[in-house]
Amino acid sequence: MTIAFIGLGHMGGPMAVNLVRAGHDVLAFDLVPELTERARDAGVPVAESAAAAAARADIVLTMLPQGRHVLAAYTGEGQASLLEAAPPDTLFLDCSTIAVDEAQRAAELAVAAGHRAMDAPVSGGVVGAENATLAFMVGGTDADFARVQPLLVDMGRRIVHCGANGLGQAAKVCNNLILGITQIAAAEGFVLGERLGLTHQVLFDVTSNASAQCWAISTNCPVPGPVPTSPANNDYQPGFAGALMAKDLGLAAKAIELGGVDAKLGMLAQRLYAEFAAGEGGSQDFSAIINTIRDASDS
Ligand code: NAD
Repeated sequence: MTIAFIGLGHMGGPMAVNLVRAGHDVLAFDLVPELTERARDAGVPVAESAAAAAARADIVLTMLPQGRHVLAAYTGEGQASLLEAAPPDTLFLDCSTIAVDEAQRAAELAVAAGHRAMDAPVSGGVVGAENATLAFMVGGTDADFARVQPLLVDMGRRIVHCGANGLGQAAKVCNNLILGITQIAAAEGFVLGERLGLTHQVLFDVTSNASAQCWAISTNCPVPGPVPTSPANNDYQPGFAGALMAKDLGLAAKAIELGGVDAKLGMLAQRLYAEFAAGEGGSQDFSAIINTIRDASDS
């Protein structure tokens, strides 16, 4: 089974390497020649174009920045169409994080062109991509899920079939909506604690063992000290960059509006991360939003 791997950036590059190391037959390509070359240097067979890879593929795996890139690559806007280049009944597996409605549209286009489609966005970041410990949230049929599982286990640790096409993206957007809000809540709690005279360690000891316990405190604690591995101890180097959280909450806001959901905190979090990411927060871990909150508080 040949896998055309399209998009060799921060995530796709190491994911393609892991597939090759596990013995899969991969043909990779990125629009940026240096990234295609880097993959070749790491032992990944590469193609001269995305369409050339797709033409020889059983599965076309895309790991691209946004929904518009996925749809353009599928339909051939400004480039050769992957849907046209691939042999009939190819499985199009998109692992990019894109909007739920874009994922459903991509699947409709693939099926209309005589192919199969799945969405399988990931969480776990670049470290998860490098260590093959990603979590995959997968949308598509049971039969196609059975077909992609042997691939996904070689790039990740937790593989969850969430339902039909688009529901992988739906699960990812809901997870990151909750995560974005809880990281702000943790930040507000720690800034308030500072004002009230609590040490970071005491507040951590209480909240990480009480009903406020959450990943945003126990793992990604927004202040240095209590969790030595959290980005706060490393000048807020990501981790998960503010720009990516702003992007994902933009997708959440779109889903909230389309679904008519009264998600006031989610919409506020989306605005706060958009402002945060427009400045230096874009390249910092998203937990650095605590500094924005502290700076905006009365001195
Ligand atoms: P990236 O920008 O580093 O990589 C994307 C790559 O796609 C780029 O190298 C680009 O040149 C290439 N590309 C774009 N259009 C192409 C085309 N038509 N043909 C071939 N190559 C093309 O992005 P990334 O950080 O690797 O993220 C990829 C996806 O994974 C995004 O949707 C992102 O939201 C998601 N994601 C990222 C992280 C993370 O920590 N970086 C974590 C979880 C999910």
